[in-house]
Amino acid sequence: MLIDHQKLRGFAQAIFERLGAETDKAVETADHLVEANLKGHDSHGVGMIPNYVGSALRGGLQVNADATVVKDHGAVLLVDGGFGFGQVVGRQATDLGIEKARAMGIACVGSRNNHHLGRIGSYAEHCVAAGLVSIHFVNVVGHPPFVSMWGGRDKRLQTNPFCCGVPTESEPLILDMATSAIALGKVRVADMKNELVPEHALFDAAGRPTRDPGVIAEGGSLGPFGQHKGSGLALMCELLGGALAGEWTMQDLDQQKDITVNHMLMLILDPNLFGGVQGFRREVEGMQAYARSAAPAEGFEQVLLPGDPERASRRDRLSQGIPIDPQSWAVIGESAEKAGLTLSEIQDLVT
Ligand code: NAD
Repeated sequence: MLIDHQKLRGFAQAIFERLGAETDKAVETADHLVEANLKGHDSHGVGMIPNYVGSALRGGLQVNADATVVKDHGAVLLVDGGFGFGQVVGRQATDLGIEKARAMGIACVGSRNNHHLGRIGSYAEHCVAAGLVSIHFVNVVGHPPFVSMWGGRDKRLQTNPFCCGVPTESEPLILDMATSAIALGKVRVADMKNELVPEHALFDAAGRPTRDPGVIAEGGSLGPFGQHKGSGLALMCELLGGALAGEWTMQDLDQQKDITVNHMLMLILDPNLFGGVQGFRREVEGMQAYARSAAPAEGFEQVLLPGDPERASRRDRLSQGIPIDPQSWAVIGESAEKAGLTLSEIQDLVT
């Protein structure tokens, strides 16, 4: 089925309000999730609603928490999200970082105890809209690991995203990626659609490669992207986001129960701090054009840059609607009822 993005926003907002969220927090979280769907990341869109509803009903997600400053020292900020909607408290931490980077040229923000932050690119987009470069190292804790290290059969990490945003005169460059071969949510979506995942992404419980998304429920693991290099970057996300900013890493399994928590270390830089914004912009624009001018390799139509696929998806889905498979929709509907919406309210909101 295809759903109009505005209907989906209203539906998600109503669910979060029914969980007790203040309207502005419900709206911000709903907008963030639907933007992820528009940008083609269904893994981090409204398909996360059942996770959030469950977490709120179990008392993990604190729907009205705001970020609080724990430490403010020079260019460094430590901000606690109080297990509030990551989309709200993560954005609040980013705003504080932007303010500091504007004043000091650079900010290093530890943003800890956020309920799931969603699509990390949204925080980089926030920084680039302010003319700032940003780098984000994120770990994921609060539930058992699904991702194996390169060469390991046992699971040790989560999908620990890395993100970097660079402002340009026109379309910003946003590299935003899980450090696992694919995002866990993409395994969930493939499972719901009865589709196979790409090769070299999943391993069964015996450590054998497989394309069957069902193996995750049977003790299988997600592998890292790029073999040892992705595995190393995932570990650095665990150490910088988890150990430095969050003081909570995956190693203590008793702490990994039934909540999705992200800790994020953000570096936010004003290009004026270095040689000046003009030289920076000139080189970035020039490099963008130079990279795009490469002749496409066999099987490719053109060279794309980070952020291009998301912009293309957004253009299409704004006009055509957001596709949601029946199984995912059924699970989202069940969670809407658990949050307290009646079937007729759900019908009214989405039709
Ligand atoms: P992806 O593999 O679809 O894209 C990764 C990056 O590569 C993006 O910057 C994209 O613009 C770029 N890209 C994609 N195709 C390209 C192409 N053909 N040519 C050039 N560049 C291309 O993303 P992913 O790894 O599946 O991650 C999806 C989302 O999941 C991200 O938004 C990430 O932040 C989010 N995530 C969040 C968490 C969390 O705990 N909050 C965990 C993992 C992932």
